[in-house]
Amino acid sequence: MLIYLDGEFVPRSEAKISVFDHGLLYGDGVFEGIRSYNGNVFKLDEHLERIFDSAKSIMLQIPITIEEMKENLLETLRRNNLHEGYIRLIVTRGIGDLGLDPEKCPTPSVIIIADKITLYPQNFYEHGLEIVTASIRRNYPEAVNPRIKSLNYLNNILAKIEAKQSGSVEALMLNNDGYVVECTGDNIFYIKNEEIITPPQHIGILEGVTRNCVIELAKEAGFKIHERVFTRHDLYIADECFLTGTAAEVIPVVKLDQRVIGNGKPGIVTQKLIAAFRQYANNSGTPIYT
Ligand code: PMP
Repeated sequence: MLIYLDGEFVPRSEAKISVFDHGLLYGDGVFEGIRSYNGNVFKLDEHLERIFDSAKSIMLQIPITIEEMKENLLETLRRNNLHEGYIRLIVTRGIGDLGLDPEKCPTPSVIIIADKITLYPQNFYEHGLEIVTASIRRNYPEAVNPRIKSLNYLNNILAKIEAKQSGSVEALMLNNDGYVVECTGDNIFYIKNEEIITPPQHIGILEGVTRNCVIELAKEAGFKIHERVFTRHDLYIADECFLTGTAAEVIPVVKLDQRVIGNGKPGIVTQKLIAAFRQYANNSGTPIYT
């Protein structure tokens, strides 16, 4: 495996960063998780835009242009001969001293790792996930805004620990007002009376690339779709529920906090959207090999 690290392609064993990098010391940095299907990178421009936006928000100057980032990412896939892959793009604040001051970190590091994707077991897509609500709340947007995909993921990791402790793979997270926002690594949707509802971006979510794609696909398929604030009660009494994310794609949820959602099976609208998403993902994207 060859990893892109600050302008060079190095073997995995040599892909190392300093213990003084503020990415490690403080989670000071940003990242993206991106997928390729059939030799095409899915929504590459959207992911690149999001990482540059995240960096701008934390006043991190990415040392290469968006075009260079794109070319380096495609080259990483080529060097690893990957067609179906998962790409992790990371920009850290770089090496500084032991204080917090980012101005003491003159050179941010850019890392691109291209690997194979480990899917959730097929069984979850066929029968749906059973999830629980985490007691830990999603970050308040005026603290670290969830729209920033920062290396500081402890909030979500604490929720993930709660999920695992109750035998689930995902946990639902609420914001400080008790409204549903998202899961630890996925956005959430529910369906009631044939309308699709997902939380609006301003209440404290990561604006998922998969989320935005599914919203578009749902509109194209003629569904009514709304971005609206809602509570767990709405999910308990929903007809259907599903999650979206780069790694998970579109995955049904059939139980939340021991409440069966709908008839306890992946619903018809969810299945239609899964099919529409697969079709779209397999037939779009930026070609790795031109
Ligand atoms: N929310 C959070 C907190 C995430 O980490 C992710 C995964 N990056 C998502 C939602 C889904 O976003 P995307 O569809 O862009 O992968």
